[in-house]
Amino acid sequence: MILVLSPDTGPESPDYKQLLAYLANMPGISTRVRTEVGSEQTLTEVYLIGNTKALLVEDMQNLPCVEQVVRISEEYRVLGRHKDDHRPTYFDYNGVRFGQDTLNVFAGLCAVDTLEHVELMMQALRDHGQVCTRMGAYKPRTSPYSFQGHGKACLPYVFELAGKYGIRVIAMEITHESHLEEICDALYRTGNATGVMLQIGTRNTQNFELLKIVGRQQDFPVLLKRGFGITLDESLNAAEYLASEGNRKVVFGLRGMKTNMGDPHRNFVDFAHVPVVKRLTRMPVCIDPSHSVGMRAASPDGILDIMHATAQGVIAGANMILVDFHPAPGKALVDGPQALLMRELPLFLEDVAIARKAYEQRVALAQRYQEDAEPALSSSVQSA
Ligand code: PEP
Ligand code: MN
Repeated sequence: MILVLSPDTGPESPDYKQLLAYLANMPGISTRVRTEVGSEQTLTEVYLIGNTKALLVEDMQNLPCVEQVVRISEEYRVLGRHKDDHRPTYFDYNGVRFGQDTLNVFAGLCAVDTLEHVELMMQALRDHGQVCTRMGAYKPRTSPYSFQGHGKACLPYVFELAGKYGIRVIAMEITHESHLEEICDALYRTGNATGVMLQIGTRNTQNFELLKIVGRQQDFPVLLKRGFGITLDESLNAAEYLASEGNRKVVFGLRGMKTNMGDPHRNFVDFAHVPVVKRLTRMPVCIDPSHSVGMRAASPDGILDIMHATAQGVIAGANMILVDFHPAPGKALVDGPQALLMRELPLFLEDVAIARKAYEQRVALAQRYQEDAEPALSSSVQSA
C-alpha cells in the first residue's frame, strides 16, 4: 500500500512526524519513504510493506497529511498503474516534459563519428525547432572488431555543440557504470551545457547490476529499451529495478523483437505494445523505428518502412521517438543503412505531426463515444 502525501509535506512538519510515529507502531508493517523533487512541487510517498491486507483504505486516508491511498498489486509496484492510482504519468527534465500524453522526437546519430557530423546534425535539429537528440558515444557491438564508439573522448564537443544549438536532452547509451561517471564529469566541465537521458540498450535490459547503479542516481532520467528476446513482463520488471532503487524518471522503449518472423526487417516491429505499456504502467513509451526496421526500403506508395512504422507507433499514442539520421550515411561508422538523410528531417517531422494529429482525433472520438455511452449505461442500470 502507498500513502501519497499532500504536495510539499516536509520531513520537519509536525503532521509528517505524527504520521511516521503512528506507522512505526503498527505491528507487522514497515515503511519506506520516497521523495521526488519536481520542478513545481515535492512529492512524498510512504510505502507500507508487510501485512497490509487488513488495513482499510478509509482509515489510512484519515491519517495526517495523507492525500491519496493506493492499494498496489504485486506487479510493477512503483511504476505500475494500480486501481484508483492518480499518481503522475510524467516527469520533467531540463525543461522538457516526458509524459504519457506528450511526444518528443529524438532524431540524431546512432554513433558519434566526427565533430563535423555532430554539428551538422545539431544545426539541422535547431533549424527545425528540435530540442532533443540521440548520440551514441559507447556502442555495444556484436563483433569485438567493430567500431566501439569514441567513448569519453567525444563527450566535451558533443555537449558543447548541444549547448550551442539549444539541445536540452541527449539520449546516450551507457553499458558500464564508469560511463555514468564520465558523462557527469564531461557535463560538469562544459558547465552543464545540455542534459542527458541515459539509455540502457536491449542487450543490457537484464543487466541487473547496471540497472541498480543507474536506478540509484536521480540526476538523469533513463530510457530502458525492452529486451529483444524476453517477454514484455520481464522487460517491465527490468524498468521496475530502476524505480525500486529510487529513479522513477523512466521511459520504456520498444525497438522490435529478434526473430526471423519479422524478415526482411531487422527486428519484428512491436509498436502494438505502445498502449499495453501505457495501460500497465505510468511510464511514457518510446518507439525506435530505426532499430526495429533497420533498412531504408520504401513501399510502392513512396513512404519509407521506417516512416510507416513510426506512424504506426505515433497513431497508437507513442510519447517519444528515437530515430537515426546521418549527414552522410555512407560514411557512418554504425548503422548507416538504416539512417535517414538530413534532407528527410522536415519530411519526417511533418509525417509524425500528421500521425500525432490523427492520434489526438482518435482520443477525442473515443472520449465522445464514452460520454455518449455513459448516460445510456446508467439509465439501463437504473431501470434494471
Ligand atoms: C541504439 O539505440 O543505438 C541501440 C544499439 O539500440 P538497441 O539497444 O535497441 O539495439
Ligand atoms: Mn544503432
